[in-house]
Amino acid sequence: MKYEIIVVGGGHAGCEAALASSRKNHKTLLITSNINNIADMACNPSIGGSAKGVVVREIDALGGEMGKVSDRSQIQIKKLNSRKGPAVQALRAQIDKIVYPKIMIETLKNQINLEILEGMVEDLIIENNIVKGVILQDKRVIKSDCVILTTGTYLKSDVLIGSTRTRKGPHDEKPSLYLSDNLKKIGFKIIRLKTGTPPRIDKKTIDFTKTRIEKGDDIHLNFNHDYYYDYDSKNQEPCYLTYTNSKLHEIIHENLNKSSMYGGLKDITSVGPRYCPSIEDKVVRFSDKDRHQIFLEPESRYYDDIYIQGLSTSMPHDIQTRLVHSIEGLENAKILKYAYAIEYDAINPTQIKQNLETKLIENLYTAGQINGTSGYEEAACQGLLAGINASLKLEGKEPLILKRNEAYIGVLIDDLIIKGVTDPYRLLTSRAEYRLLLRHDNADIRLRQKGYEVGLISEEIYSKFQDKLKKIKQLLEILKNTKLTPTEEINEYLVSINSAILKDGITMYDLLKRPEIKISNFKKFIELPFEPEIIEQVEINIKYEGYINKANKDVEKMLKLEEKKIPDTIDYDKIHNLANEATQKLKEVRPTSIGQALRISGVNPADISILMIYLKKGDKNE
Ligand SMILES: Cc1cc2nc3c(=O)[nH]c(=O)nc-3n(C[C@H](O)[C@H](O)[C@H](O)COP(=O)(O)OP(=O)(O)OC[C@H]3O[C@@H](n4cnc5c(N)ncnc54)[C@H](O)[C@@H]3O)c2cc1C
Repeated sequence: MKYEIIVVGGGHAGCEAALASSRKNHKTLLITSNINNIADMACNPSIGGSAKGVVVREIDALGGEMGKVSDRSQIQIKKLNSRKGPAVQALRAQIDKIVYPKIMIETLKNQINLEILEGMVEDLIIENNIVKGVILQDKRVIKSDCVILTTGTYLKSDVLIGSTRTRKGPHDEKPSLYLSDNLKKIGFKIIRLKTGTPPRIDKKTIDFTKTRIEKGDDIHLNFNHDYYYDYDSKNQEPCYLTYTNSKLHEIIHENLNKSSMYGGLKDITSVGPRYCPSIEDKVVRFSDKDRHQIFLEPESRYYDDIYIQGLSTSMPHDIQTRLVHSIEGLENAKILKYAYAIEYDAINPTQIKQNLETKLIENLYTAGQINGTSGYEEAACQGLLAGINASLKLEGKEPLILKRNEAYIGVLIDDLIIKGVTDPYRLLTSRAEYRLLLRHDNADIRLRQKGYEVGLISEEIYSKFQDKLKKIKQLLEILKNTKLTPTEEINEYLVSINSAILKDGITMYDLLKRPEIKISNFKKFIELPFEPEIIEQVEINIKYEGYINKANKDVEKMLKLEEKKIPDTIDYDKIHNLANEATQKLKEVRPTSIGQALRISGVNPADISILMIYLKKGDKNE
């Protein structure tokens, strides 16, 4: 049996990749080491958050699945930074860990062109540097035109607790023992990374009276743009906030040498996530802080496990118990699962191209944690793009490449392939230079057309989207063409909402530039029968017009540099005067444009000038 696309791994990257390629009518096989573990949420029971929430909207706009499944399995949802500017707003949902995988597995099982097989892939079939299929642990050979590797934290993974190192995957799952060594034999540079997870405790043993309740928003919120999954916003599960204290910090300091990361194990070379540090790291690195936040988050409506957000550790079990019991409200908490760190193999992502295909082996794609990222959303968006791009390659079409000004997904992939990783990469708003353009509210406006063109958005949804664009235009026209004159009624109203009176006539469009004025204020004078999302879009575009125009000008400059292409055949050793470090980095990354070359760390403006002169001279260099 031969498949067009084989996806290895049923995590968040694998699910999106398999759905995208099968929905694009390519015969797809998803091979995963444990079918019951598909779409498992190995760590935090939440999806979204700052920047990550925007990625989920982007996945949804392109026709991916994560947003819909999150909406159907959320037990609490809120909009972060709703009082701040639109550039930093994002949704964050607590997810039911039982329900999310259940819905995702059902979706995969009902998908035509998609088969699922349980098995451990340990090698690849490669002929003339083109992948031709996979070899399973039990020596079964399965052929395909493309392979997408999404193996997460399972490659030669070791679970670390105190001074013990045990070769196994997350939650005692089987690790993949040979795949990374076989990738190394082909020529891939393998890096070792690590991450960690906190303990889970029994809800019934927590004294919530000593904590602060954290509720969801009492309004309807969805990641999905069209489905508007209905739920009772009153029926949400609360989270709780408590803090670490001097007693906990003392226990950490006294026992630091027992943590795997701080001496418990001598042979650790891997690097943990800088932006998701263990409690040991936080106490040591931020020694001036006398407390750190600890969120108590429910994992499911169906069981009592509470996830202790902020207490990731690799301390031995007895120290973990002391740490937990030192926290207010958790004095008598029963630990149901102990925390651990996990070390695993990944590939350095400078070895992949913008379409997520590897540079070394044609038709071999990688996505998710194997590329050095951390997080469900980061994994899912790469899986979606790998699934789309492997399909487009089979169709003989150009790949879908998202630029840094088009999507956080574009920022993430560009960062990975240009900068590589030294510690697990996590998306942050600060990584995006055009974040006012990459907003939660306009993900569909940025990406739905592309999702439609690649074939993942139905005609029905696309026509709804066209309708939305039309209405935005209509409302803008109305606001531009409706003038308010300084009548007594209007000025009285303006005074009542603390706005200055009018001296001359003004269009509603211009009046909206005043921070205190909202479109809803005009409803007193004119009928505006538009949905809230249309009003929100128009309001943001008018109020932030100046900043948006400035960002667009910066984008134009960036795109000009992206248009200056560097030929594939360039031999950097022939460019004299380039600094050694620059030559090395340029040879490793092989940027396709001057814009990309500029973003490589270690390549300085002087090197770029030399490179540009060399490119300008062209054949005359010979
Ligand atoms: C202990 C721990 C702590 C974490 N902490 C955080 C955190 O603090 N913050 C955060 O954002 N994220 C965290 N994560 C990361 C998050 O779980 C991952 O980033 C995300 O799940 C990665 O998705 P993925 O699809 O790449 O891989 P995974 O979700 O890991 O899925 C990989 C899949 O591949 C399968 N598989 C692996 N190898 C093979 C093979 N050779 N053949 C067949 N099947 C295979 C596995 O069974 C699994 O289904 C943590 C993960 C772990 C395990």
